[in-house]
Order: sequence, then C-alpha cells, then structure tokens
Amino acid sequence: MKTALVTGSSRGIGRAAALRLARDGWRLALHYGQSREEALALRGELRSMGCDAEVFQADMADRARIFEMRDEIKAFGEPSLIVCNAGIAHQGLFTDISEPLWHRLLDVNLSGVFYCCQAFAPAMIRRRQGCIVTVSSIWGLCGASCEAAYSAAKAGVIGLTRALAQELGPSGITVNCVAPGVIGTDMCAHLDQAARRDLCSQIPLGRLGTPEDVAGVIAFLASPEASYLTGQVISPGGGIVL
Ligand code: NAD
Repeated sequence: MKTALVTGSSRGIGRAAALRLARDGWRLALHYGQSREEALALRGELRSMGCDAEVFQADMADRARIFEMRDEIKAFGEPSLIVCNAGIAHQGLFTDISEPLWHRLLDVNLSGVFYCCQAFAPAMIRRRQGCIVTVSSIWGLCGASCEAAYSAAKAGVIGLTRALAQELGPSGITVNCVAPGVIGTDMCAHLDQAARRDLCSQIPLGRLGTPEDVAGVIAFLASPEASYLTGQVISPGGGIVL
C-alpha cells in the first residue's frame, strides 16, 4: 500500500484530503504544526476505517525540522505522494505589512512547499515515481486586495509547481497545483454573514466551496487517471475566477 503525506492535515482541506485519500487506499502520514490533539483524533478516525496512519510534527517554516520529519516518516513508509497543503492567510492593508509578517507568510506558504519538495523529491527521483500536489489559491492566480503577501506566496507556489513539473517529469514524477476559491474552513472564519452572501453572489455556482470539494481534486491528481497530467493548476472555485 502506498504512503501519502498531507501537510496541515489537522483540520480544513488537509483533513478532508487525508480522509479522502484513505478511502482511496492510501496509508497516511499526517503532518501537523501545533494541533497535536486534532491530528491524533484524525489518526484515530483513519485507523477505525482500517487505514494505517501516523502523525508527524513540523513548523513549515523550519527547514531543519522538515528534514528531520522526513527521516521519521521514512520509518513509517516512504511517501509516493506529498500534498503540500499547510498554509496561513492574513488580511490587511499593503502599507501595514511589517517585514516580519511578510517573511512569515512567505516562509510558511512558499518556503514550506520548497522545503517539503526538496526533502521528499530525492527518494521519488531514485524510485523514478512520485506525485506532488501543491495547494495555492485563486489569489495566487489573480491577486487579492489586502492579501498582498499571501497572493505573492501563492503565486510563487504556482511558479514552483510549474518549474518542478518540468524538472521532475523526466524522473516520472508529476507535479500539479490545486488553487481553491473561497472554501468554508477556519481560514475563512473571519467572514461574517453579509460578507459570505456578497461572496456567494460573485460565485457562478452560488456557494462557498467545501473542504471535500478540494479534497476530490487532490485525490484525482493523485490517482492513476491523472498520470499524464503535470504542471497544471486546477481551481475548485465555483467559477469565481475565470
Ligand atoms: P486551515 O487554517 O483550516 O488549515 C491550515 C492548516 O495548515 C492547519 O492544519 C494548520 O495547522 C496548518 N499550518 C498553518 N501554519 C503552519 C505552520 N507554520 N506549520 C505547520 N502547519 C501549519 O485552512 P484551510 O482552508 O484548510 O487551508 C489549507 C490550504 O488551502 C492553505 O494552504 C490555504 O492557503 C489554502 N487555501 C484555502 C482557501 C480557503 O478559502 N479556505 C482558499 C484557497 C487556498
């Protein structure tokens, strides 16, 4: 049975992706940052479904820790799929972004993906097989007002995905990106009812996305059906950006 690593799997899109991949037959390396209890609860849920799962901790901005985590995961099972999902958002005026905040958003959202890919790609290259799914955002495609650092980081994720698809393709590795629209997770908890209604009116499909909407696309990209797909950005966004 093949092993998948999902970063940021304690809640939201990562949690839904882990559950979906388990149903598709993957063993799950569940990464979390701080939410150990939630990660353990998910591990319990997966095990009760008959899925082999274990939890692993790292801050996405800490390269050394991610490489240590890679070595810990190796004993569990070398991942042939990594889903680089962990991320943080921040809303605020561009003119108010401090340098530490800028670096934190870039470190977690972009460098974290770089560290994970660099940690896990060598084993995939040796085996000449693997699948990398990155998680960007529609704001990485078109930019969002008051989310300049987040948009820049997520645009970087798309650039990294496309570059890696070209470099790793000859080694039999696919690299694709999911760029979700507005998904009803903790990341959007700040949106009040009026803001949600306003957003829904701008979304052709008329509703916010669910974590499961995104998990389905991740599962597809990880499936044999997507074996000839690489360097692509797929956007489960209800048509909010076309
Ligand atoms: P969420 O806040 O529910 O989950 C984010 C996950 O990332 C959590 O598990 C959190 O612990 C983890 N994480 C955050 N910072 C970390 C760090 N420094 N180290 C380790 N782990 C860390 O949000 P979500 O909506 O599930 O977001 C998942 C991904 O989807 C993110 O990359 C986000 O940018 C992206 N995304 C979300 C939306 C949305 O509307 N919710 C839209 C587009 C893209």
